[in-house]
Amino acid sequence: MSVSMLKTGLLAACATLLAIFANSCGDNGRNRVLSDARFDSSSAFRLLSELAQAGPRHSGSEGAMRTVLFIEKELAAIGIPSRREEWTEDAPGGRTVFVNVVAEIEVSGKKPWIMLGSHYDTKRLDQCPGFQGANDGSSGVAILIETARCLWRAREKLSKNVEIVFFDGEECIYSYSENDGLHGSKRHLEELRRKKRDLKAVVVADMLADKELDAFIPADSNAELASKFMKTAGKLGVERHFQVKDLNMLDDHAPFAEAGIPSILIIDFNYGPNNVYWHSSGDNLRNVSLESVAVSGSTICHFVLGLGLE
Ligand SMILES: [Zn+2]
Repeated sequence: MSVSMLKTGLLAACATLLAIFANSCGDNGRNRVLSDARFDSSSAFRLLSELAQAGPRHSGSEGAMRTVLFIEKELAAIGIPSRREEWTEDAPGGRTVFVNVVAEIEVSGKKPWIMLGSHYDTKRLDQCPGFQGANDGSSGVAILIETARCLWRAREKLSKNVEIVFFDGEECIYSYSENDGLHGSKRHLEELRRKKRDLKAVVVADMLADKELDAFIPADSNAELASKFMKTAGKLGVERHFQVKDLNMLDDHAPFAEAGIPSILIIDFNYGPNNVYWHSSGDNLRNVSLESVAVSGSTICHFVLGLGLE
């Protein structure tokens, strides 16, 4: 079997699984929305490739600003309004301008919110001049843009408002501390507190395109959300790619979880042999795959649609 035949076969299998999943759901309207979801894996992989080819995009860099413009352009093409949260901090790398991109699908002022998030910044690696961050910094963003497209199509059926946040400054310069790393998520949490936003769930996606996809949900995630996510993966027949693990991870879900908001992180932190591709030149387009984006993206898309419809 050629590589392209294998790809076509896998994607066809994925589409069939989605149809089975849709038919197994209870209510008719919800059923229809889920069967119409059609997470577009090819489009997600195109986005991932474009992001990766933009090169390094650590906070405050030209690459970061190009990425902000890229995300804004893609959201505008779907029709979703977005805005910037922009601020300056004395970070360990010097005085730095940070920018979050926030897209909102507000179906009603009275309804509660769910939030999806992923970071677009890449680790500052001066020893890797052309660092792509194909997995760490691209995959989550690509998956969330495509998920946003599915949510936008389903907006008339949603019973919750949805915000999709593309975080800056997830990566630390030295090591995670009060003012090093998670800048974007901490800042956004402050904004939500100021607005007194009724946030029911936070879903964070990171590093989900590894060719050998074995993602997990860390223990500091909300147990009910974790169980719903695993159920979705089971219905899609892809549960072998996910597990709930008894360890904690520091990522953009952490500030929200610490604030008592039900939060979940989905991450594959086993990238290459002994995680060797992580934060190295190995995090490139050769080590990610369309098939993995199809599996993780479809599962996240259906999981989030389920949360938005219930
Ligand atoms: Zn990273």
